[in-house]
Amino acid sequence: MSSQPNAQRQVYLDHSATTPVRPEVLAAMLPYFAGKFGNASSVHRWGYAAREAINDAREKVASLIEASPNEIIFTSGGTEADNLAIRGIAHARKSKGNHLITSQIEHHAVLHTFEALQKEGFEVTFVPCDKYGLIDPDDVRRAIRKDTILVSIMHGQNEVGTVEPIKQIGEIAREHGVLFHTDAVQSAGKIPIDVKDMNVDLLTLSSHKIYGPKGVGALYVRRGVRLTPQVTGGAHERMRRAGTENVPGIIGFGEASRLAKAELPEEAERLSKLRDKLIEGLLREIPDVALNGHPVLRLPHNVNVSVKYLEGESILLNLDRMGVAASSGSACTSGSLEPSHVLLAMGLSHETAHGSLRFSLGMSNTEEDVDYVLEILPPIVGKLRAMSPLGPGSGL
Ligand SMILES: *Cc1c(COP(=O)(O)O)cnc(C)c1O
Repeated sequence: MSSQPNAQRQVYLDHSATTPVRPEVLAAMLPYFAGKFGNASSVHRWGYAAREAINDAREKVASLIEASPNEIIFTSGGTEADNLAIRGIAHARKSKGNHLITSQIEHHAVLHTFEALQKEGFEVTFVPCDKYGLIDPDDVRRAIRKDTILVSIMHGQNEVGTVEPIKQIGEIAREHGVLFHTDAVQSAGKIPIDVKDMNVDLLTLSSHKIYGPKGVGALYVRRGVRLTPQVTGGAHERMRRAGTENVPGIIGFGEASRLAKAELPEEAERLSKLRDKLIEGLLREIPDVALNGHPVLRLPHNVNVSVKYLEGESILLNLDRMGVAASSGSACTSGSLEPSHVLLAMGLSHETAHGSLRFSLGMSNTEEDVDYVLEILPPIVGKLRAMSPLGPGSGL
């Protein structure tokens, strides 16, 4: 293995931010940009071809989460699906109650939607998590009131990888007649999902986190659950989300879902081994490093550590110079001075939260990639700490 900066290795370890479109997916999409360009609502062969392809994709996406095809609404991505679930249920059930429950560690697509609903007059309870980022189902139970209409708790946490006890939370919600939504953008295709077994009423998916194209996602809505559309117009998606379908995007999402499901058991096993090798290596090779997130209840592709006395951002810049892509906190908060709301909710100090690094593994990664990170990161940390005013020798 080479450590010469010029014969540089490129190691992408930011798959929780986005993934490349895999070749099989791109090949499936291409015909739908030009040759098969029909509008799926049209009554002619161009339209029928698009309609049929969308139906086929809908089956594949449904199959990834053990749902029925008619329970899938295609959207412009995970963010829109989260918005549709939360606003759609809040608005549809307003007459039944005014109280909503979510957690402190949700993705901003969920968190900021609940904050907007607070401004509309809804009351929202944000349940906490423990030091591993784990949510206690009993906290959700205690938060439920007579006027609670929706609980939304994510499945796999995008920053620290903790897998939440969705099945138990869903059971509690169901016992109380409260609808339950989960954002499964990070867990889908990585760990098995069965919406019926998990007692879920609504579930969010995004294509570009599973090697599909950007700008397409889906919301699972259990049969019989009514929600208020948030995008109005034509009668698309069974009157739940208007707008001419993104046909190539949906086809790509379908193919990505099919491949993710077919490869899930082996790929999850492979990624978990790489994850554990990287975690063990980081803790062994670098002093004053702590794992963030749950040691066992963890997404197979997530590694998150805090490197004491340093800023995650400065480590990222040095990693990038060596060809390694990672992230600090969440991609949406990097660049801002506020540390991650997730790490703060887990009880980390501002300093420790600022020193967090996330490596998210994916299809292209190998053991050699992990070896490379373990080779270059300790000297980067050593060099930065030697220059840091917060260093272990500073007395701070
Ligand atoms: C990426 C992500 C989203 C947003 O999905 P987009 O398709 O990028 O809008 C929502 N929730 C989680 C947990 C994510 O990781």
